[in-house]
Amino acid sequence: MPIFEYRCDRCGKPFEELVFGDAAVECPACQSKAVTKQFSVPARPMAGRAAAPVPACESGMPSSGCCGGGACHQR
Ligand SMILES: [Zn+2]
Repeated sequence: MPIFEYRCDRCGKPFEELVFGDAAVECPACQSKAVTKQFSVPARPMAGRAAAPVPACESGMPSSGCCGGGACHQR
């Protein structure tokens, strides 16, 4: 089960989120969908950047089509 770590772009709160398919991720504190996915979750055995399932997010792809699954809502 994919657990990703995010940080809210709006209030700066870090949080972890289970991501199911294309479920939207929003900040638990302010409900903002402007969150940035982090890749520093120690619980993930393959947290290496090369093994990241959605490497496009990290390298600053355009917001449209980022991640492909709709889990990333960077603006
Ligand atoms: Zn927030």
